[in-house]
Amino acid sequence: MKLAILDGTRPVVIDDDTFVDVSDALPADDPTTFAAGWWRGLVSGFSDLRPAIERAAATNQRQPLDLSRLSAPALNPSKILACASNYRAHVEEMHGVQERTLGTVHPWMMDFDVFLKAPSSLTGPADQIILPSDVVDAGLEIHHESELVIVIGQGGKDLPVESALDAVLGYTIGLDITVRGDGDRSRRKSYDTFSPLGPWITTSDEADDPDDFAIRLVLNGSEVRQDVNTRDLITSVPEIVSYASRAMTLLPGDLIFTGAPPGVGPIVSGDLLDVSISSLGSMTIGVR
Ligand code: MN
Repeated sequence: MKLAILDGTRPVVIDDDTFVDVSDALPADDPTTFAAGWWRGLVSGFSDLRPAIERAAATNQRQPLDLSRLSAPALNPSKILACASNYRAHVEEMHGVQERTLGTVHPWMMDFDVFLKAPSSLTGPADQIILPSDVVDAGLEIHHESELVIVIGQGGKDLPVESALDAVLGYTIGLDITVRGDGDRSRRKSYDTFSPLGPWITTSDEADDPDDFAIRLVLNGSEVRQDVNTRDLITSVPEIVSYASRAMTLLPGDLIFTGAPPGVGPIVSGDLLDVSISSLGSMTIGVR
């Protein structure tokens, strides 16, 4: 099933080039289930709600899909985690990037780990990346990273690798926009609009094997910047979920960016980024 959010307020199911509003399948009046927001309630109760959502998707009025009305397919997640240094070829290229942008190489940044991005940096498939003028004026490079994003379903703490995928609702596409330079990742990657997400969540049962997603990013319609498969991840999707859950409880709706593929590079105002992941879809994001 492909789950999206329409106009920032309504849960919809996507079917080819149509959508169906399934708001009436949610127990929106239940303050205990939905106190943390209806979207987190939908995610945490998805397996119980799924039959009602499927009924609503089959019977409610189907409408032509208007991509410009889709918001990020996540509302107020408790946290966004992101993986560092998770493709060997990207780790190699970062030596050159750091020498150019920092004048040195920070060895600790070459090891796999997870860090936090601010949830307020999320935007949807119809939104643009807005480059902060002070960063641009300072002459710093701002890079695209195109990434598979894990959407946590039930979540949990200290999840074993073998059953980690049971805690996952599905997958979506994310751009981890990054200022290169000194200072903490959590600031450099958390400016407003620096986490475009979308266009929808594809539930695990309908998506490709998480270790076999093809990711591709094309700049301005012709320049292939990134073209990889998640089988090249150093730390695989189940290992990422397990590792993160040992540090912090994963809550329903949390997002995990799985790491930048090789081919990161600068973006400037006027650029158009076409990002696609096999079986998940694609989106086009402008930069200004
Ligand atoms: Mn990243």
